[in-house]
Amino acid sequence: MNTARPKTAKSFTFACMKVYLDNAATTPVDKQVLDEMLPYLTEHFGNPSSIHGYGRKAKAAVEKARKTVARYLNASTSEVFFTGSGTEANNMVIKCAVRDLGVKRIISSRIEHHCVLYSAQVIANSNQGVLVDYVKLDKQGRVDLNDLESLLINNSGKTLVSLMHANNEIGTMLNLGKIAELCTRYEAYFHSDTVQTIGYFPFDVQKTKIHFLSGSAHKFYGPKGVGFVYINTEAPFKPFLDGGSQERNMRAGTENVSGIAGLGKALEVATELMQENKEKIQELKKYMIACLSKEIDGIFFIGDISDEGSNYKVLSVSLPPDEKSELMLMNLDMAGVAASGGSACSSGSEKGSHVLEAINADPKRKVIRFSFSKYNTKQEIDYTISVLKKVMAPSSLKSAITE
Ligand code: PLP
Repeated sequence: MNTARPKTAKSFTFACMKVYLDNAATTPVDKQVLDEMLPYLTEHFGNPSSIHGYGRKAKAAVEKARKTVARYLNASTSEVFFTGSGTEANNMVIKCAVRDLGVKRIISSRIEHHCVLYSAQVIANSNQGVLVDYVKLDKQGRVDLNDLESLLINNSGKTLVSLMHANNEIGTMLNLGKIAELCTRYEAYFHSDTVQTIGYFPFDVQKTKIHFLSGSAHKFYGPKGVGFVYINTEAPFKPFLDGGSQERNMRAGTENVSGIAGLGKALEVATELMQENKEKIQELKKYMIACLSKEIDGIFFIGDISDEGSNYKVLSVSLPPDEKSELMLMNLDMAGVAASGGSACSSGSEKGSHVLEAINADPKRKVIRFSFSKYNTKQEIDYTISVLKKVMAPSSLKSAITE
């Protein structure tokens, strides 16, 4: 979080608390995860490719983490490859599917993360004869299954469907089972960007036929700069990065051993307490929805907020259009609350949120994304609501910031 605060912060009348509600952007590293990682930065610093004891110790940590990921997905360890990020995993899937599997058409959506959108666009612009189609979405960002089916029926070559499991800005979730069924029926490859849901929901790739999925440790209380890709054995890729034989030749480069060990531990911890954490976070989200609806006029929520249709850790709030909501994120930050936000693009010059634009959100309204973690408390939500109330109410605006 940015610690350089504007001068006005000193005269804020809030009893300043530090509240982190930007957990879709990144999460803090769990203490158990840090403990698991540290020895691989100090005494067990070997290179996993070395055959001596130091190397073997490091290699064992990498393989232990691979087993954890494979167990979590109900996949084989030979289908799990570590990467440097979720971005890299998604790039790898889209680019290798075209290069190695003869994919001639990509069906995706306009609310995907930029690493998916831009990878698909780069391919579409590269004269490889690959078409990119975007499936229709409703106002909540839900995929129109009829439209997806009609795109799949008109299949003119090998197709890759790439649709995210949960949107990072608005939380709307995809029914993986239904999409997998359609892809199986029309013999398309299915990739899901699961970066926001790994560690938060159970997965079983034996039950749900997904060819590729991606994960990123820093989204589930692990370290930054390490992710993984699941690649079903039926859809084999050639090396993505050339060089050494790491990751069974798929991704050359000396492994980030402490990061991979941290990823494995983070997934283990997340799996152990998944239900408990889910209930806790879901309750906080519901509490915030109830308080906001009661306390602030003209507010509404973006995306699907139902239990089954949304990611419980994300709440996207649309504020009534006025100058106070324009400055809301800054005011929250000055009061110690970290959240993120945006708005739909209102003019060609302003770079808005492509997600809000794609679901036709009103560009005059500011949107704030609150995203929760297992560490948040009701007290923090109360404090955040009190800041919002002070800033929103015209009469209390002055008392919120005194110069
Ligand atoms: N996909 C989604 C849905 C994300 O939210 C993010 C990160 O914000 C990524 C991919 C990229 O992950 P990473 O930060 O590991 O590159």
